[in-house]
Amino acid sequence: LIYPSYDRIKVREEQSLIMHEGLGSRVCAIGLDVGGTKLAAAVVDANGRISGANRLPLPKEGDADDVFNVLVACSDRALSEAGLEKSDVRGVGCGCGGPIDWAEGVVSPINIPAWDGFRLKARLAAAFPGIQVAVHNDAVALAVGEHWQGEGRGRANMLAITVSTGVGGGLILGNQIYNGKSGNAGHIGHIVVDPEGPRCGCGGFGCVESIASGPSAVRLAQIEGWSPPEGVQADGHALARSASEGNEIAVRYLAGAGRAVGLAIASTASLLDLDAVVVGGGFAQSGDIFWKALRGSFERHAIMTFARNANIVRSVLVGKASLLGAAGLVLFPERYGVPASRG
Ligand SMILES: [Zn+2]
Repeated sequence: LIYPSYDRIKVREEQSLIMHEGLGSRVCAIGLDVGGTKLAAAVVDANGRISGANRLPLPKEGDADDVFNVLVACSDRALSEAGLEKSDVRGVGCGCGGPIDWAEGVVSPINIPAWDGFRLKARLAAAFPGIQVAVHNDAVALAVGEHWQGEGRGRANMLAITVSTGVGGGLILGNQIYNGKSGNAGHIGHIVVDPEGPRCGCGGFGCVESIASGPSAVRLAQIEGWSPPEGVQADGHALARSASEGNEIAVRYLAGAGRAVGLAIASTASLLDLDAVVVGGGFAQSGDIFWKALRGSFERHAIMTFARNANIVRSVLVGKASLLGAAGLVLFPERYGVPASRG
């Protein structure tokens, strides 16, 4: 593996070039975000400005190529909005739902059955010949976006969490992306917060995700008798809305989600001595019930001063963090680089 080493001086020089010579607006990359329901693309310059963007629904039917073609179409539209050609950009970075064989860029997103074992990195390299391609977990792309342009700016050690259809996370340590051995570091959704808790999608029991993800909280509330208003889909949004209207069961499970996330953050802050934790996703935007429970549980469990001092903030880059971070993977390889593939 070739790990680009973090070179503080080089990064500082790069930043000053960007700031003082206006280089940033001329160096661009394409950021791609492959989610469970939509595909998105943005042309991002080295100052973090988006000059073209597009988003298309994930095709519900069709094979692997159909999905890939929509992703490329999305990217083409973003490029044309920016007035650029493929050859004008430095690279293409893509955040994709896991699991992912990271060094090879082979993905098997749970929400895209057609992409079971799909060679995303190789396909992107063929579609964008001659430029850099990087593929990473979408939650890691989120962490990069937050560190570069969001609430994580200037925080050397941070964790980003998204509480959404799943619970994902990514780490920046020492101002550098932390990949771990296989690119899977940061899976905070599978920290166990209740050994007697519900079965998790990963096969374990009582993981954060089995309590705090939108679908998990909804399922637990439904077992207790909660149901959404007639004609409304039973999802995290509906649950949060019921909770804000005072439905006791909805309050209990939305707060339960917040407590599970707060507990996991407390453990992680003790382990890693973090400056900041940025929380995004639907529940993070849902308001006080979730946040009071999260902060209460964090304060109850993070006892040592250094852990308590981790600053927990809500993401403000709603819908943009993963796209910016995906572009950041190729714009700033010294900080956010993905190792070259094995062999
Ligand atoms: Zn799990």
